[in-house]
Amino acid sequence: MTQKYTLHTHTIGFDGQDSIINMIETAKQRGLHTIGISNHFIVHPNIKKSKMYEFAVRGGYSNIYAETFQTALNRFIPHYAEIDVLREQYPEIRILKGMEVDFFNNPIWHNKFEQAINILQPDYIIGSAHFIEYGDTILNTHDWAKADTSTKDILLKKYWINLANAAQSGLFTWMAHLDLPKKVGLGCEDYWAEYENNVIEEINKSKTAIEINTSFYKPDCYEPYPSNRIMQMVKHANIPVLISDDAHRAKDLCRHFDKAENIIINMNLQHYQIR
Ligand SMILES: [Zn+2]
Ligand SMILES: [Zn+2]
Repeated sequence: MTQKYTLHTHTIGFDGQDSIINMIETAKQRGLHTIGISNHFIVHPNIKKSKMYEFAVRGGYSNIYAETFQTALNRFIPHYAEIDVLREQYPEIRILKGMEVDFFNNPIWHNKFEQAINILQPDYIIGSAHFIEYGDTILNTHDWAKADTSTKDILLKKYWINLANAAQSGLFTWMAHLDLPKKVGLGCEDYWAEYENNVIEEINKSKTAIEINTSFYKPDCYEPYPSNRIMQMVKHANIPVLISDDAHRAKDLCRHFDKAENIIINMNLQHYQIR
């Protein structure tokens, strides 16, 4: 078994470093039949109050953040139009329109998000949570590590509950990097299994898939997102999985797919089939 598609990718104009054309050309070289582009769709009225926003402005990628749905639409409409043109130009490879969405659990967000996807008509939607609402601001995963111990616990609980709500919403094709907080060393204790399990149950009920995200593999790290602890729950519930490289550069397309494929084979997991 070899996964001949990749669907979790980021490009220039958002926080990726290569153009869609670079990504398509590289995908062809790697023998893929399908590539999906899934830039960030992150809309929150308080987004500019987050520390991550200032950081992104300095880094030149604040375009992934929007205070209003209209702003995000104004970026995605020409972005998807560009993909339409490239579909004509590259008939030999299937090019899909995706998005990686930050879920916020309130009715206004939900309603406006549904209106936005009615306009954009993406081929698939990746659910994620890089932020947690906290007081009148929102905190990125990177900010959580700096909080005191009891606040860290509150944030992590909010994170898992938010993911459960995201899965329950039924809005998403699959959920991204489930245990993202481990990026900053949080949530690794067995104590969190109960929260993880709750999310897995909601994912199962809503027929959502999950990804094995290979971006966490580093020279000193032998696991992807999610951890083996979560993968055991995924196996138990027989939730379909796909492999994501979360490539922000063309050279990262299909990175460590061999390792993730070994997990799928060894655990005999259900491999997600793209429509
Ligand atoms: Zn992400
Ligand atoms: Zn991503």
